[in-house]
Amino acid sequence: MITIITNKEFSTGIETSERADGRAFDELRPIKIEAGVLNRADGSAYLELGGNKILAAVYGPRELHIRRLMQPNRAVLRCRYNMAPFSVDDRKRPGPDRRSVEISKITSEALSPAVFLEKFPRSTIDVFIEVLEAEGGTRCAGITAASVALADAGVPMRDIVVSCAAGKANGQVVLDLSEIEDKEGEADMPIAIMPRTGEITLLQSDGHLTSEEFEKALDLAMNGCKKISEEQKKAILGRYG
Ligand code: UDP
Repeated sequence: MITIITNKEFSTGIETSERADGRAFDELRPIKIEAGVLNRADGSAYLELGGNKILAAVYGPRELHIRRLMQPNRAVLRCRYNMAPFSVDDRKRPGPDRRSVEISKITSEALSPAVFLEKFPRSTIDVFIEVLEAEGGTRCAGITAASVALADAGVPMRDIVVSCAAGKANGQVVLDLSEIEDKEGEADMPIAIMPRTGEITLLQSDGHLTSEEFEKALDLAMNGCKKISEEQKKAILGRYG
């Protein structure tokens, strides 16, 4: 994530200017979620958020054969975030890199508090996130899709984790940054929450926000999460309702 620091960084964050794609400061990109799109996975989901197209597949809970990873009293939630070479303008070199390792790790950390891992000792639950097309905010979109895929797999959970970013672009605090806002903006702050309690399971921040802007971004991201959560419920009900 590249942050270009401009003198707008210290502005008040009052919503004035129009966003590049014409959205209001508190508006999400169009979102679509479908559960149960893959036959061979135990659970799956497909998500579109603006120009992001993401598939999530879940396998397990199943026996974990790698002894050094095994936990005697709970399952491990292994996540693999991967970007397809054709998902971005400049061809992405296939295979893991520092960014995908980081996103895989924070995805597992964002989802784990919601899963009753203690019900499945010595097991693994494997979550695969494949980014088919990327347009900013793929880590959040991936977590949101993975959570629906976990529910689709029937994995017992406290809540359906949902994720969304807010940040600062062109001098104003905005919800759900697009790729251009992410790259040229002043700050990006992805969060994930368990919506029933509002408990935060992920909070990252890249760039500069004043404490006032931080509060405002958190508020926007929380509200964004609640809206996306409704779409997750619709996707699950659409499959089983
Ligand atoms: N991106 C890219 N090439 C890469 C990695 C990322 O073009 O190798 C783009 C992609 O659109 C991504 C955006 O940059 O969504 C922002 O990436 P970041 O690392 O901030 O993660 P994200 O916002 O996707 O969670």
